[in-house]
Amino acid sequence: MPDLFADIALLPNGWAKDVRIAINETGDIEAVSAEADPSGAERLAGAVLPGMPNLHSHAFQRAMAGLAERAGPDGDSFWTWRETMYRLAVSISPEGLLAVAAQLYVEMLKAGYTAVGEFHYLHRDPAGRPYADPAQMCRAVIGAAQDAGIGLTLLPVLYRAGGFNGAPTEPRQNRFVLPVDGFLDLAATLIGEAARDPNLAVGAAPHSLRAVPPDDLAACLAGLDRLDAEAPVHMHVAEQVKEVEDCLAWSGARPVEWLLANAPISERWCLVHATHMTPSETSALAKSDAVAGLCPSTEANLGDGLFPLPAYLAAGGRFGIGSDSHISVSPVEELRWLEYGQRLLSHARNIAAGAPAASTGTALFTGGLAGGAQALARRIGSLAPGNRADLIVLDREHPIAAGHSKDTLLDALVFSGNVNPIRDVMVGGRWVVRDGRHDREEEIASRFRSTVSRLASA
Ligand SMILES: [Zn+2]
Repeated sequence: MPDLFADIALLPNGWAKDVRIAINETGDIEAVSAEADPSGAERLAGAVLPGMPNLHSHAFQRAMAGLAERAGPDGDSFWTWRETMYRLAVSISPEGLLAVAAQLYVEMLKAGYTAVGEFHYLHRDPAGRPYADPAQMCRAVIGAAQDAGIGLTLLPVLYRAGGFNGAPTEPRQNRFVLPVDGFLDLAATLIGEAARDPNLAVGAAPHSLRAVPPDDLAACLAGLDRLDAEAPVHMHVAEQVKEVEDCLAWSGARPVEWLLANAPISERWCLVHATHMTPSETSALAKSDAVAGLCPSTEANLGDGLFPLPAYLAAGGRFGIGSDSHISVSPVEELRWLEYGQRLLSHARNIAAGAPAASTGTALFTGGLAGGAQALARRIGSLAPGNRADLIVLDREHPIAAGHSKDTLLDALVFSGNVNPIRDVMVGGRWVVRDGRHDREEEIASRFRSTVSRLASA
């Protein structure tokens, strides 16, 4: 393919002018040069940014956006929302999952996410029996990512128990449950496939401390190390106050505290939510080099609480963003609400900026790029040689870009409301969105509509 040429592009050291990007046949960036000559290159329509990684997704939940917003008789919480989610989880087929996930992934690409971490826990059939191919539901996720053209880090979930103390699972959790051996066999199959696909990586997701007893967690991590000692590990942690109380009653320690003391938390790990932490947990997590996987729109929707962002950033903590339950599919909305939650709490402004005169939009966007790339364990998140050619092009003619130079462009992107100035999107050297359109969007949307109608009538 011809080289790309952008008037301005966000490179690892900041904005650069007249940037030329060479991409090889496998979809990797081969060279990046600033103040370069444009001759023979394809001129892009505006500023170029690395695509944003979305580090936490449960794709099937896109089909229930708007279905859990009616008040119940006794008050609503995460736990009443989970009832609606379980009703959907028991009914979705592999074909249904493929249809819903493909639509979701097209929406992600158009919004500027170029890679997703799929925290995937629907393994068995609705009756809890293994499929003839134990990887069938995982293959639906991989197929959806390929149909849409998004990069994927597939994180098959280990789910062993219905609560702390190894409480038995309920029948409606049957689809999630695998023995540790079966889980590792599945991971081995998927890791083999990822070795042949530069847009795919595989890790593991022990679901949470309430769903994975310590012995199973240790066996899962040891087995994963034998398959791939660098594979990423994601886990839900400290999302809900009740979960913290139950963990204290079980172990005498809070969830993040327990993990830091009993698991090899490192840069391989992504602790999803980590909402409820004491100041000492916050600074210890920051110093562990793990990524906090923050999902502000879902955390708001579920009434989880607010992550202690200022203390975490002050201690050098790393974060990325996820759209989790997909009541919003927009990196801008996640970043904005990450900041706005803190403003509402502290009665102050520009919390994430980190230093006088620093740009809040830049701190949020570049923080999300770096943490997301680390958590998804792929060569993404910056426009640098050797990385995947995953990038987004803003439309220089879009009204929200008017009057902005490179100094304020990311502030305009994050803090201009719900308008989308992204014109073109590339993943692994292939254009997947051009002029705001995905080339398979009608077909994928039509398959999604019939799937959701079927689910609604079932
Ligand atoms: Zn989640």
